[in-house]
Amino acid sequence: MQRSVLRAEADRRTEEVPAHILVVEDENDIAALVAYHLMRDGYRVRTLAAGRPALDQVRRERPDLILLDLMLPGLSGFDVLADLRGRPETADLPVVILTARGNEEDRIRGLELGADDYITKPFSPKELLLRVKAVLRRTRAPAARGSGPILRGGPVTVDIGAVQVTVDGEEIELTPTEYKLLVALLERRGRVQDRGRLLETVWEAPGDMETRTVDMHIRRLRSKLGQAGSRIETVRGFGYRFSAEEASPRS
Ligand code: CA
Repeated sequence: MQRSVLRAEADRRTEEVPAHILVVEDENDIAALVAYHLMRDGYRVRTLAAGRPALDQVRRERPDLILLDLMLPGLSGFDVLADLRGRPETADLPVVILTARGNEEDRIRGLELGADDYITKPFSPKELLLRVKAVLRRTRAPAARGSGPILRGGPVTVDIGAVQVTVDGEEIELTPTEYKLLVALLERRGRVQDRGRLLETVWEAPGDMETRTVDMHIRRLRSKLGQAGSRIETVRGFGYRFSAEEASPRS
């Protein structure tokens, strides 16, 4: 009863279809807490306690975002993430991982596997909602726009309207975060952007996020761009820059 009233209020506020979030967490109290806060904020939530059922569920009904615990019975969160990223239909599905505080290795491995963001346990409801909102905003916003500019950097082309990235005319698949990062770099092509600025622009991070997150995503983005990846230059001590140089003529 109360839930539907809250849902109605959230709908009036946003006037859009509530995002559907899949929470994969085997600790019941955490799953219930997360679901409670998400539903109170107007999200549609489903919780599952293991990886295999989660993958099955994603195939039946694609959620808008997955909150994924890493330590799960059976398939681990890493296995689930790798499976999702390995399939074209879920390669771009937004995933936020839940990790234990202080476990940097897990966080890094999760980001390397293509997680869009992470939340460390224990977390505040406010942080949870902020992170989810930020990831959804950068995932859902570009598709809502009908048309937009074309950004180019040598062999790399980003069609903002179509949310499409090509390298030498070949389309490549990026996660929402990698896409936003590439756009941020191309929009300020030739200029250095420090990690803090990228965190603000791409992650809309409250400021306490590790700059290492940026490095992980840059690494993945470079590798997906292939040879063109070298155009994203590391400026030691500062950050990153998309090279302003034009591509050398190809034979
Ligand atoms: Ca767990």
